[in-house]
This record gives sequence, structure tokens and C-alpha cells, in this order.
Amino acid sequence: MDLFEHQARDIFEKHGVPVLRGIVATTPAQARAAALELLPADGGVVVVKAQVKTGGRGKAGGVKLARSADEAESVAAQILGMDIKGHTVHRVMVAEGARIEEEYYFSLLLDRAERRYLAMASVEGGVEIEQLAVERPEALARVAVDPRVGIDAAKAAEIVAAAGFADDVAPAVADIAQRLWDVYRSEDATLVEVNPLVRTADGAVIALDGKVTLDENAGFRHPDHEGLVDAEAADPLEAKAKAAGLNYVKLDGEVGIIGNGAGLVMSTLDVVAYAGEAHGGVRPANFLDIGGGASAEVMAAGLDVILNDPQVLSVFVNVFGGITACDAVANGIVKALEILGEAETKPLVVRLDGNNVAEGRRILREAAHPLVVLADTMDGGADRAAEIAYAATQA
Ligand code: GDP
Ligand code: MN
Repeated sequence: MDLFEHQARDIFEKHGVPVLRGIVATTPAQARAAALELLPADGGVVVVKAQVKTGGRGKAGGVKLARSADEAESVAAQILGMDIKGHTVHRVMVAEGARIEEEYYFSLLLDRAERRYLAMASVEGGVEIEQLAVERPEALARVAVDPRVGIDAAKAAEIVAAAGFADDVAPAVADIAQRLWDVYRSEDATLVEVNPLVRTADGAVIALDGKVTLDENAGFRHPDHEGLVDAEAADPLEAKAKAAGLNYVKLDGEVGIIGNGAGLVMSTLDVVAYAGEAHGGVRPANFLDIGGGASAEVMAAGLDVILNDPQVLSVFVNVFGGITACDAVANGIVKALEILGEAETKPLVVRLDGNNVAEGRRILREAAHPLVVLADTMDGGADRAAEIAYAATQA
């Protein structure tokens, strides 16, 4: 789960990473009140920053300085509602302004291939880091971090030296690197990025913009992370699937997919995409793994999610009977169709194989549901489901 900048800021603060004060506002009037609170009596500025989960907000006009509460209000009015790379701005953060002398870069991420973490740092931050990595790779230090050790004082010194931080900021940056490691480890993050990390006119080093991705698989360890979920942005079907405990990912195509086991479902996506090439280019509409059990209730919950996707024109149920044998799966499908009743309006191509397959097929044949089409093979079922979906696009 990616966090908004203001959420990353709060987490940084909790772990002692130096940040500036910030207040979230959803209306220009709130931005005005926030600016009144944050503007120092002797002048100075606040920054009004679009809160969207994408980078390059500055370039897009989503980060603006304001010298007064009036200005903060009018700048917020411009930024709220703005579209930044397809993200609508629903809130801004009004933050204390920093007098920036230098901009640096720091990040910590997962290096899956090497089974460890990777720290990256540069004294040339602020810019698009992908661009720096391509154009001047030598300016971006990359230091491997052993997960068993993390960033201790020695590792922090190594990172700071590799990036070439000047002596006057090196100790502060090293301290921040260790605190960001603390964020990474204790919050179960998979990415912590600060761009820019800045040195201000009075010599302080501050994290001015933060990006944090949390590992949802570790959510059980962090009940407080639940409050960070952006309910507005959640896909309603994905939310429904999640509530039912299903492993579902919405995709863009027309053929709904249900299978048991992540590997089988993924290969089913491939086979359907391939079959779709011969049928007008239809594609899989989702990933849905109902797991080993495949009870009638789980099958019904899965079908309910898929059939409620208005893009779905046909469904391919591809189940391999194992511990839960095909007859139990077939009974599950029949019962699921009963549970769904009138809601069941799209053709269902079913391919069963594995344990007790003959009995499973017999059950489905005898139930003779008007929308169920039986397929003998995975390729055959994929082809039939794609064909039906394509025919529906032509209807
Ligand atoms: P991003 O473009 O989405 O990465 O948003 P950032 O929060 O990184 O802001 C973009 C740029 O705005 C930074 O690199 C800074 O140059 C500038 N900026 C952000 N906050 C301040 C501030 O408090 N004072 C000043 N002078 N500039 C700022
Ligand atoms: Mn940034």
C-alpha cells in the first residue's frame, strides 16, 4: 500500500526523522486556516502541496509557495481538483516552508534478486531520480543492506561516504539514514524514499517529501495501518472481494476467471489471453483464486464479485480437484448458482479435472443449468469462454 505524503510525514515524525509541520486541508478555507497557524509572525512562507499518490507534483503545478493566508487560500483553490497524471487532487497539505540550500536523495528498497535491501543516496536530489540514474549513474550511490544487520552506524557512514555528502551534513544524514531504516523495518515497509532531503539555510537537514510503501502482508502486525487505507480510491469490487476473504485482482478484459491455486489461475490468465487473440482480442477480466477449499459459499462469493463486474461477458471456471474433489466443486458450483439466482446472467464455461472428475462432470451435466457450458480441457474452455465473450461484444 502506497501512502500519501502527509501520511509518510507523520510516520517519519514518529520515528524521529526531521520533518516540517504540516496540516491537511480539503477546502481553500481550511488551507487558509492552516496557513494562519503555520506562517511565522515575522514573514516566511508556507508550501501548499497536492496530496496524490504520484511523483512529479512540483512539475505539474501541484506544489506552490504562499507568503500569506490569502495566498495559501487562492493557491489551494487552484490545486484542489487539479488532475495530476490521472489522479484528482482531493486534499492538500499546507506545510511550513523551508529555505532550501541543497537538495539530496535517499531511498531504501527491497532488492528481490539479491535477497537483501538496497540503499540509494545522492547529493543531487530534487530531480527525477530515474533520469539521474540513467544520465549520471555515478551520481547515485547504491549500497547493499544486509537484512540481518540493517543500517547501523557503520552502514550509515558507508552510505554517506559513497554518496559524497560534505562533512558539515554527513553526521545528520547518517543519523537520518538510521532512523529511516527504523521506519523501514518497524513499519514493515518495502519502500522508503525521501526526495528531496534538504539542507536549509540554518544548516538543518530535513525530509521534505516522503514516499512510503507498506507491505500489506505484514498488516496483521500493524493494526494502526488500517487507518491509512484510502477508502475513496479502493476499487469497489476489490473491496467486496477483500471483505469476503478472496484473493482477487481486477483486470481490464471481458472474460471473468475463477480457479483454485494461484499458479493455475495465472496460467489460466495466459491461456485466455492467448485464446482471445483468435476472438477479437478479448482478455481476462480478473485474477481470482478461490484456494483449496472451493466450497459452495466461496464459489458463490467469487461468482458474485465477478458477475458484478460490468465488463465481464463470460466466465471461465477452471478448477483442478485435489483434496477438495471435483464432485464437491461441482456441487459447489450448482449450489452457488442457486444462491445467486437471478443475479446469474452470464455464461459460465466450466472445466474440471483431477480427483473424481467423472462424478463432477456428471453432477454438472445433470443439473443442466442453462448458462453452464462444460469444457474437457483448459485450452478448450479458454477458447469457448473467449468466443462467447467476443460474440457478446458483437451483440
Ligand atoms: P514532487 O514533485 O511530487 O516530488 O514534490 P516535492 O514535495 O518533492 O516538491 C517538489 C519541489 O518543490 C522540491 O524539490 C522543492 O524544490 C520544492 N519545494 C517543496 N517544498 C518546499 C519548501 O518548503 N520551500 C521551497 N523553497 N521549495 C520547496
Ligand atoms: Mn519529491
